[in-house]
Amino acid sequence: MTLWLLGDQLYPEAAPLQRHDSVLLVEAHEFADRLAYHPQKLTLLFAAMRHARDDLRDRGVDVTYLRAATFGDALDDYFAANPGASLTVMRPSSHGAADRLRELVESRGGSLSVVASDLFVTSPAEWDRWTDGRGDGYRQEQWYRHVRRETGVLMDGDDPVGGDWNYDEQNRETPPDDWDAPPLPTFEPDDLTREVHAFVTERYGDHWGDADLDGFPWPVTRSEALAALDQFVETRLPAFGPYQDAMLQGEWALAHSLLSPALNLGLLHPREVVDAATAAYRDGDADVPLQSVEGFVRQLLGWREFMRHAYREAMPGLADANQLGQERDLPPLYWTGDTDMACLSAAVGHVRRRGYAHHIERLMVLSNFALLYGVDPAALNRWFHLGFVDAFHWVTTPNVVGMGSFGTDLVSSKPYAASANYVNRMSDHCASCPYDPDETTGEDACPFNSLYWDFLREHEETLRGTGRMGLVYHHVDDKDDAEWRAIRDRAADVRADAANGDL
Ligand code: SF4
Repeated sequence: MTLWLLGDQLYPEAAPLQRHDSVLLVEAHEFADRLAYHPQKLTLLFAAMRHARDDLRDRGVDVTYLRAATFGDALDDYFAANPGASLTVMRPSSHGAADRLRELVESRGGSLSVVASDLFVTSPAEWDRWTDGRGDGYRQEQWYRHVRRETGVLMDGDDPVGGDWNYDEQNRETPPDDWDAPPLPTFEPDDLTREVHAFVTERYGDHWGDADLDGFPWPVTRSEALAALDQFVETRLPAFGPYQDAMLQGEWALAHSLLSPALNLGLLHPREVVDAATAAYRDGDADVPLQSVEGFVRQLLGWREFMRHAYREAMPGLADANQLGQERDLPPLYWTGDTDMACLSAAVGHVRRRGYAHHIERLMVLSNFALLYGVDPAALNRWFHLGFVDAFHWVTTPNVVGMGSFGTDLVSSKPYAASANYVNRMSDHCASCPYDPDETTGEDACPFNSLYWDFLREHEETLRGTGRMGLVYHHVDDKDDAEWRAIRDRAADVRADAANGDL
């Protein structure tokens, strides 16, 4: 039997790979005509697939690598050469994909066996056991503690190492002025990657984002991914925790791991990443503080695994969830980066340049502005999906539609809505921004502020009774009619300016 390995399943130690001596890889191209995917994302995906092909062949695996417009076209060729063949595939992460693949195979006279994915730490059965009897009232933090207990990661017997489950309180610092960000990994593209890049820039020449490979920071092979992991653990992890929520002018990466693209392609397994980080903490070599390693482990064992299962549970409805009824298009600045708002301009610029922005830029700048402005969650999800090198449907949909847009309360009990206060506290952007973070109304007032209050008023019926919103609505109730008129006028001007590309 042949294992059909999908482009985001490249983990060479996956159990099903060990049970098959032949592999099918299909590089399909037409899907990327439907959205203007970032050229670096497409280069990364296709380069990782072609390198995985070569690595598997070096290990003696018989690899059929087909390039075609669609999966269907590739399977026409495959079954012409292998009539009636039986294929195996690890369960794809995208909703409905297993059924679609089975139809494609069976309609060509073959058979497809779908086996469990070996690319996550926890299984659907584990999730089902944990959620049994909880109704809809499950939250990431409870899941995270459960996975810590089950895996023994950062555990001291039955207790969390250090006595607390979560050190978030210590992870909200901004670096001092003289702080130098730790060095970044770079991976000089080899001939194969350059060949892929030339193909991508020619085939998808009008796509959104900077195609320049200069300083390309994304590993495209297993060995590069392992080198990136080592580099992170040794040089970046110590500062990751305290500064993980910070934003600095001229710093796109700070001490973030930058491992999500490799993880989401399967070049790294989340368990080995967690083990490397916790070993560095335990061994004490790299001087990793507990707050750093715990924050990092939570991203993987908590959020990443939680979002994967939440997506499985809530699809297909999750993709179109829109409990606030938000319907505006993305304002043009998400495409042009052309805005005087320093924080938003920087975050969009980071995505355009490398297909990446770190989690606080994603949540508290890019998603927060779209939420307050009133963007349709599905439109924002499409933008994230096409623009980010680590974005797959199972990743962005719960994060963007659920968490960022509050299209549903599946993954958070309240919206991540914030005024300029948050950005001002966590970044140095406001100091060089023409807008005033302390003003709500008037031409120079930060756009976040009027939009924030207007948003709360607009969606009062849904939000007032929502968990932990009581204090916020206390402030809403404090404002008099004249204040509300000024806020609504300013918010209307902000929305009009944003829609016209004049913000
Ligand atoms: S003032 Fe407002 S727009 Fe400008 S950087 Fe601060 S939060 Fe962003």
